[in-house]
Amino acid sequence: MKNSRKPMVAGNWKMNGSLALLQTFVKGLHAITTLDTVLCVPAPYLAAAGKGTFILGAQDCSQFESGAHTGDLALSMLTEFGVEYVIVGHSERRQDHSESNLVVAQKVQSVLKAGLTPILCVGEPLEVREAGQANEFVFEQLNAVLGVCGKTFLDNCVIAYEPIWAIGTGKTASPEQAQDVHKYIRQEIVKWNENASATRLLYGGSVNAGNAEALFAKEDIDGGLIGGASLKLEDFTAICNAAK
Ligand code: PEP
Repeated sequence: MKNSRKPMVAGNWKMNGSLALLQTFVKGLHAITTLDTVLCVPAPYLAAAGKGTFILGAQDCSQFESGAHTGDLALSMLTEFGVEYVIVGHSERRQDHSESNLVVAQKVQSVLKAGLTPILCVGEPLEVREAGQANEFVFEQLNAVLGVCGKTFLDNCVIAYEPIWAIGTGKTASPEQAQDVHKYIRQEIVKWNENASATRLLYGGSVNAGNAEALFAKEDIDGGLIGGASLKLEDFTAICNAAK
């Protein structure tokens, strides 16, 4: 089954980078036909990023269509710049901007309505993992999206499992730990929608050029969402090569 899901590697630059770094990626990152290579750059760089061979992603969007929402990004605007994927519910947005499961679900709905693909982030904090509740925590996050969007969201959504304790910490989940949660997610979402056997599940959390291959080899891990290592062309290229 894994082979019928096209692998995907998405870089998340967060609030990092520069126009000069972007030029390096535009010139140096080469598309691999067997892989969807996505780069989610900061919004001010979207116009310049469109010249690259990678697929363009945004890091967030508003759940609203337009109006009095200072600083927010409308999906119609992201579309105008060629954005195809939008990260939704990243743990940093959930923490820094108090985004609830409900708001995240509304954003997923808006992304789908705009004809783009959400990369829905889920994942537990350390204390939840230590309490043995990781699966239940992730289930709640996904169930909130099901409640708002209905089961068809799984036809056009990428899910990124990103345990919070592994993001930016250098503490990667072992391939077995990651696969266990991915397998659980797959098992649950297929109960909601049989098409979800084709839904891509990415792992994120301190993926690097050294550990990517072992993670991506697992049955239910279809690629990665990459933070820190997506800021170095050489490392990001190596991670892409590990997924193809
Ligand atoms: C992320 O920001 O989604 C992420 C996984 O970051 P890092 O790879 O740096 O842990």
